[in-house]
Amino acid sequence: MEANATPFSALGLSDALLKSISTLGYTVPTPIQQQAIPAVLFGKDVLGIADTGSGKTLSYALPLLHLLQEQNWNARNRHVPVLVLVPTRELAVQVETVFNEVITGLTDRVKTMAVFGGVSINPQMIGMQGVQVLVATPGRLLDLIDSKAVHLSDVKLLVLDEADQMLNLGFKEEMDKLLALMPRKRQNLLFSATLSNAVNEITQVVLHKPEVIQVTTAPQDITLIQQRAFRVDQERKGPFLRYLIQSHAMQQVLVFTASSHTADHVADKLKKHGIDARATHGKKSNHARLQALADLKSGRLRVLVTTDLLSRGIDIEFLPYVINYELPRSPKDFVHRVGRTGRAERSGEAFTIVTPEDQPHFKVIQKKMGRWVTLEGTDDIDLQGV
Ligand code: ADP
Ligand code: MG
Repeated sequence: MEANATPFSALGLSDALLKSISTLGYTVPTPIQQQAIPAVLFGKDVLGIADTGSGKTLSYALPLLHLLQEQNWNARNRHVPVLVLVPTRELAVQVETVFNEVITGLTDRVKTMAVFGGVSINPQMIGMQGVQVLVATPGRLLDLIDSKAVHLSDVKLLVLDEADQMLNLGFKEEMDKLLALMPRKRQNLLFSATLSNAVNEITQVVLHKPEVIQVTTAPQDITLIQQRAFRVDQERKGPFLRYLIQSHAMQQVLVFTASSHTADHVADKLKKHGIDARATHGKKSNHARLQALADLKSGRLRVLVTTDLLSRGIDIEFLPYVINYELPRSPKDFVHRVGRTGRAERSGEAFTIVTPEDQPHFKVIQKKMGRWVTLEGTDDIDLQGV
């Protein structure tokens, strides 16, 4: 980043927060942080649109912690003042971790909790005592509300991370219920890499004139993510995947498939060929899901095969490779998958396997992405023995 960029200290954050940020080793705010932090501190509703890996989490976490402490939002017990909604349990855990890293450096502690389905609800009900920042997936939050473990009537600030997905049809029923339980007067922060301020549903959440902050790079700009696409016949996909992994000596890679079934199958095949691999998806247990991701992050696991469950928000430091074994149906998901690499200004490579049948859909994806990737032939590559 340029040396003359605005420092964190110019954004209006408290000394305690600045000290904590500097202890964590962050020196210069990213562009979305530079713009979003003052707007949030000012009390505005914000639509924050910025590329994957551009630091959106801290762009809401820092100013909301400031507001929480400065304005003393100590809501009545079991009435959380700050609610952050996310689409998956993996993301809930990650976002709460980011909050806690910042909070560890503060003298006045803030109590946070992440709640999500797939685990026993009792500890979550007990733990809700005194929580000030609640990070939740919608389904489990509704269960907790039904059991009177938490109330939303004192919510002062709502964050929707991966906002376009949270406002998508898949979450509509749950979101409608949750929004109806919150006070109308509250601050709303919506963040995503693929959010369009034309989305109608946004008016349902953002009641006040929002500040729209968009810092996405122009589509044709050279990004730090290098993309390549390979034309591969259906029956050669398995061997070609092994060839990609071996020939690049990949030690840490995330492979995306279109279904849980294929994810299991691909992981099994890799293992049979002596490549350390595991599958994770919505049908796996909570423990297996969190463990698989933790193992990939720490470098204990070489290949993690997954569905679009992990396409959103997950931050893996230094992840060098992403492979699309199958295309996602939605072009947006493609952007998010590829964005798991090349984070925080590091480089990364994303490879996409395209069968002849996939070609028309891959065209649609590229058009939506605003970026064209040369389709490389692979018929000459000898896949015997991989
Ligand atoms: P996004 O939500 O935009 O995809 P994240 O919030 O997950 O991105 O952040 C991506 C990575 O960038 C994280 O590993 C985070 O620690 C790092 N990061 C965030 N802010 C900064 C900063 N100001 N300077 C350097 N790295 C940062
Ligand atoms: Mg994010």
